[in-house]
Amino acid sequence: MKITVVIILAVGSHPDDIELGCGGLILQAVRNGHDVYMYTLTRGEASGEPYSRINEEAQSARVIGARKLLIDSFQDTHLAVNSDLINHIERVIEMTQADLVLTHSLSDTHHDHRAAAAATVEAGRFAHNILSYEIPLSRDFKPQVFHDISDVIEKKISLISLFQSQKDKVYLTSTAIMGLSAYRALQSRMNSTKENKEIESVNHVEAFEVMKISLDNSMKLANTTTIERDHEPVSNPLTDDIQEILPSLEIVDSTPDQTRIFKQY
Ligand SMILES: [Zn+2]
Repeated sequence: MKITVVIILAVGSHPDDIELGCGGLILQAVRNGHDVYMYTLTRGEASGEPYSRINEEAQSARVIGARKLLIDSFQDTHLAVNSDLINHIERVIEMTQADLVLTHSLSDTHHDHRAAAAATVEAGRFAHNILSYEIPLSRDFKPQVFHDISDVIEKKISLISLFQSQKDKVYLTSTAIMGLSAYRALQSRMNSTKENKEIESVNHVEAFEVMKISLDNSMKLANTTTIERDHEPVSNPLTDDIQEILPSLEIVDSTPDQTRIFKQY
């Protein structure tokens, strides 16, 4: 079967950021045959034991069905927009050949998140499409793109529940995540047809800010490629069995040392 594959790179400052911000979108993307790469900049050592946090992230990436999980070793709570951070993100964008980059919002309340967002914009100057995601703590977020995640909302909640080391954080509760996505669904008006009829199916939506969007002549995201792909290998990433290990997942370590990049974790 020929499908137009979108290569998605999701960038997050800490383990769990990607899942909170765009977990629904990437779960769906893998199910629909697209390629998802995940890149976490720190090991989250300021809020837990880093080994546990990496393991939780790896487990999540397996459930999502990501092609690769890249884990960098920038210091948690010390992210700053500098050449080191920009170069690392740029290298990952180049390596993955991402068509769509997802990152934090420039107006996020956490300084690590803001630094990651600003660094991604600069690192992604040659990328065609960059969107920012929100988390339940975001305050000045201006939603511009809405994506229906109704059919994977339960799976998104179960993804977040994998992060047991963070279970005491209130913004990780299912009510906060469900509440935000239900609010965005209402706001998006995606549950109304052109005839103004209400439809029941769009109940949960993830929202994004546009940093950059490029559309081709067929109004699709620019730079995507149509390839022959057997749809089956993406087996069943929505399975409830979190132990299922999708063989394509590769976990890669990156260090700030420019000479030792991406050694095997
Ligand atoms: Zn974070």
